[in-house]
Amino acid sequence: MKEKEVVVIGAGIIGLCSAYFLNKKGFNVTVIDNTDGSGNCSYGNAGFISPSHIIPLASPGIINQGIRWMTRSDSPFFIKPKLNSDLISWGLKFRKAATKKRVAAAVPLLNDLLMSSRTLTEQLLKEEDIDAGFNDKGIIVFCKTQQALDEETTIAERTIKLGQKTEILSAEQARALNPELDLDVLGGVWYREDANLTPHIFIEKFIDVLKQKGVTIKYNQEVSKITSNDDKNIDSIIVNGEKVVADEYVLAAGSWTRDLLKQLDIQLPLQGGKGYSFVLPNPKANLNTCAILHEARVAVTPMLHGLRFAGTMEINGLDLTLNKKRIDGIIRSITKYFPQYTKEDFKDIEPWAGLRPCSPDGLPYIGRTKGYKNLLIATGHAMLGVSLSVITGKLIAQLASNEVPEIDLTLLEVDRYN
Ligand SMILES: Cc1cc2nc3c(=O)[nH]c(=O)nc-3n(C[C@H](O)[C@H](O)[C@H](O)COP(=O)(O)OP(=O)(O)OC[C@H]3O[C@@H](n4cnc5c(N)ncnc54)[C@H](O)[C@@H]3O)c2cc1C
Repeated sequence: MKEKEVVVIGAGIIGLCSAYFLNKKGFNVTVIDNTDGSGNCSYGNAGFISPSHIIPLASPGIINQGIRWMTRSDSPFFIKPKLNSDLISWGLKFRKAATKKRVAAAVPLLNDLLMSSRTLTEQLLKEEDIDAGFNDKGIIVFCKTQQALDEETTIAERTIKLGQKTEILSAEQARALNPELDLDVLGGVWYREDANLTPHIFIEKFIDVLKQKGVTIKYNQEVSKITSNDDKNIDSIIVNGEKVVADEYVLAAGSWTRDLLKQLDIQLPLQGGKGYSFVLPNPKANLNTCAILHEARVAVTPMLHGLRFAGTMEINGLDLTLNKKRIDGIIRSITKYFPQYTKEDFKDIEPWAGLRPCSPDGLPYIGRTKGYKNLLIATGHAMLGVSLSVITGKLIAQLASNEVPEIDLTLLEVDRYN
């Protein structure tokens, strides 16, 4: 029997993981991307695989804190006020989702998804013999103030209740785990289930694996149109002006997914959440574990090619320009936690920006939409795209095979806002 053809739109980590599991299920898979693949959000991120991130971005704390941050030009979280109907509608939904009740409903689901993806990622790396600097020493959230330590302890207690290995650390204990660094902190929380990898090396090696398995990957090919028929089937897509036909289509175009779906009259609340990163190739003092600088919301990751710092969440459409003030804000905060570092140490950095695809409730969209029989959506992973990539790919392949997905996807339904 002829293999079913699947086209995956988007060669970010979500599209590639979907391709991997679809190929395993016996589909004939082609991945199409409108870039050379090296600039997308999946390349320059902090590389955390973090089961500890059980609290979605839309949570009660972020609303109060976010309002204070809005007035600062170097703050780590910012929503650009604009008269844009998509943005206004997204902001209202974000506010509505940021309640204790909604967060409480999301936490067990996120825990299941994150823990399952953590296990599957390690399995995939072993099975496919990919060395991407996988490090399972965990993430320490460093806190400078008692208020931050109390907030983080509340999250730590939730992860412990869910069965995760988590420890509250004194400043001395945090220093002992990272002896190269001078640390100016009050204490921290060590999330021991967390891990990290070097994302661009993972993607490059993963692409080789996919190609060897027979997946076709086409770069610099723009999907400009998706056409459907009265029968709620996607007929074809237009790629670089040419018609391409498949049995099934997976839309994993990151922050650009919303605009592609508008062609089908589908309104998907989604905003790009811009973040920055940069690398010190020869750090003067390195970390053993990953770190989060709590008050500054900066992620620090020891990677194969140096020490990466990443931060900010700027909701401002699809704008990828580098904002110097916010990048300087990240650098300033690093020097406060790590006094060995000065501004001078960062003078040669080459900042990178990426757009996290953000849904208003902080949960991804995984599934079919509006009854389209042969269209699957996989996006909205926000700060968890690496952490959730492998389970997302597996779920997409299960849905494409008409199997019951191994995790209940009700809260992730694509049409949950319609
Ligand atoms: C600073 C920063 C740090 C982060 N740190 C972490 C972390 O530590 N852990 C974690 O889990 N997540 C992290 N993230 C989030 C993570 O990087 C994203 O969630 C993830 O990369 C999203 O992957 P994606 O495949 O959905 O999108 P993308 O990587 O953006 O890929 C989508 C692809 O679709 C292509 N595309 C778009 N439109 C079209 C079209 N019309 N035709 C063809 N192709 C198209 C795009 O060019 C792109 O290549 C971070 C993000 C940032 C910005």
